[in-house]
This record gives sequence, C-alpha cells and structure tokens, in this order.
Amino acid sequence: MSIAAIIVAAGRGVRAGGDTPKQWRMLSGKRVIDWTLDAFAQIEDISDIIVVVHPDDAAKLPAAGKIRVVTGAETRAGSVLNGLRALQAGETTHVLIHDAARCCIAPDLIQRIIAHLANGDDFGVAPALPVSDALWRGSDMKVAGAESRDGLYRAQTPQAFPFKAILAAHEAADGRAADDVEVARAAGLEIRIVDGAESNLKITTPEDFARAEHILRGPMDIRTGTGFDVHRFGPGDHVMLCGVAVPHDRGLQGHSDADVALHTVTDALYGALAGGDIGRHFPPSDPKWKGAESHIFLRHAVELAQSKGFRITNVDLTLICERPKIGPYAGAMIARLAEIMELEADRVSVKATTSERLGFTGREEGIAAQAVVTVMSL
Ligand code: MG
Repeated sequence: MSIAAIIVAAGRGVRAGGDTPKQWRMLSGKRVIDWTLDAFAQIEDISDIIVVVHPDDAAKLPAAGKIRVVTGAETRAGSVLNGLRALQAGETTHVLIHDAARCCIAPDLIQRIIAHLANGDDFGVAPALPVSDALWRGSDMKVAGAESRDGLYRAQTPQAFPFKAILAAHEAADGRAADDVEVARAAGLEIRIVDGAESNLKITTPEDFARAEHILRGPMDIRTGTGFDVHRFGPGDHVMLCGVAVPHDRGLQGHSDADVALHTVTDALYGALAGGDIGRHFPPSDPKWKGAESHIFLRHAVELAQSKGFRITNVDLTLICERPKIGPYAGAMIARLAEIMELEADRVSVKATTSERLGFTGREEGIAAQAVVTVMSL
C-alpha cells in the first residue's frame, strides 16, 4: 500500500467565532490546522499529505516534508477532487480524506483505519459512533415525534478509500454529496465502519473550541513542592519575614535581606516545577544579590511557573521560632505573599510554631521555615 492523506481546509466557516476561518485560529498554542497536520505527519505509513486551502490562504502554509499545498474549489467536493488530482501522477493506492477542523484526531485512530484498509482494496473504511441520545423530530421548538436511533451512526473523518475508486467516484459525482462516503457509495463502493472517538470532534461552535482545548491539553497536571530554609540571628532591630519588617531585638543574617520565609516559599515553588533551587538561580557568590529584597527571587519563581503553563493553587508556610511572635504580623505577611504570588488571600497560609525551646530555634539562634506550594497546569 502507498497511502496519502488529503486534509480539507478550504472552508470559510466562521461559525466558531472571530473573523478568521476556524482552521487558521489559534488553539492551545498553535493553529487548529497545525494540530491536525502534526497528527497525520507522525504516521509513518502515510507518505504524502495534500492540504487543500482556499486560494487566499495559500501563503499561510508552506510545503514542508511530506506536506504539499493545493488550492481548493467552491465546494467541499470540488476541493477534495483537486486534492485527489494532485496525487494522480504518483503511486498512491489508498487515500485518507480528513477535515482540518477535526484537530483532536488521535494518531491511534488513524492507525486503526489504516490497519483495516490493509485487509483488501475493494472497500473503504470510515470511523463513526453509534447515536446514543434519543432522536426527536420537532418544529417551532416543540417535539413532533420520536425517531428510532437503531442503526444510526454519527459519521467522522478520516474516511479512507482505494485511490483509483474514490478518484473515479468524485470525477463522476454531481457535487451534491454530503461527504466522501456518500460519493463512494454512489459509485458502488462498500464502506466499512470502524469505531470513531468522541474526542475526534469537528470544531464548529465557540464551545467546541473550549472542548478541543480541554482534549488537547490532556489530563490535569498537579504538582507539589516543599521548601525549607534557616537563617541565623545577628545584630539588628528587625527581621524581614514575607517582605514584612517585624521589630525584634536581633536581625537575621544572610547575603540578601535574609527573608527566610520568602526563601522557603521560593524553593517550594521551584521544587514543584522541578526547577532547581534558589541558590542555583541566585548564587550567593554573586555580589549582585547582596542585600537584595527577596521578593525578587519569589517573583522569578512565579514567572517561571507562568512560563511553564502552571497556575499556583496555594501555599502553606510554617515559621519556626520562639521569638519574635508571628501572630500580630501574619495578616500582613499573607497579604504580601498573595500580592507577590498573584493569589487570592484565601489560598495563602502563614502559620507559626515554636520548637518547645529545643534545638537551635529553641535556643533562639535563628529562624527556620518550611513550606508547601501546589501548582496546576493551566
Ligand atoms: Mg535563605
């Protein structure tokens, strides 16, 4: 078998919203048509991909690899025929015809269709799903009767055919058929049904864009990171905690402003992103960070999360010290953390505990902090 694919992308449909035809609109980081082409391009059994575009769009898609671009006609059937004729000079034995607007097509569905084709060359193969909802006839928004759904299917693409048979069928067709299966059947070709996929939706309405985005994004990605930091007391009259100056009879020592709370939260966020630690991004050996305000570090981690497509869902910070008392300042610390992390205050927790006078925190040699941060894919 020598298999080609024709991607029909010549429609001007703007029902999905905006004034750009849906196949050229952006969806989860790339154009609808690019999602479709990426799915087909990775199928090794497909040696040629013909994309049929409107003449106005010819410059939007350069030929690349096994992809060639031809211009379409007034009707969908005419566009398919242009695509088929572009393959005529080659060795193609079978062709898959697919609508560009079914951009969530899974490569394994394409493979299944190809596997069925391999069983013979005197029939076509098309994916479909049985109708599961009740079917009504109606008019003026009133139900006028019920229809049996027995034996009814919802047709999808790609529809696959022996090349010579579908070319001849389209050459002979009157251009009024709804899809390529109808054209093929009119010419006497048997079409076998394979299971389609609910995810293989055709983008038509604005809601379909949201559904497609959800499908392409895949399952939700939730990640958690932990942070821990300690700073030693030294001379001073206040300590910085979460960007808030808390009066005390000592200060915290460190290369930056020694805000142990912000350092801990920053490390927890880097941890959730598998993004290293604060010392890697802001080496203490670099004089640039001497005395730096620590919100700079946390902002860097927040922006790293955003650039990786994650949203921070919450942060839980615990400060461990005998003194100063944290309670009176916890509200201000929450407000400042929420501001730096672009979070609602009810997603930010600042707690404090002592270590019962045990250990270095008990001896008031310094302040320790630990934090958990959770992020979720956008
Ligand atoms: Mg530190």
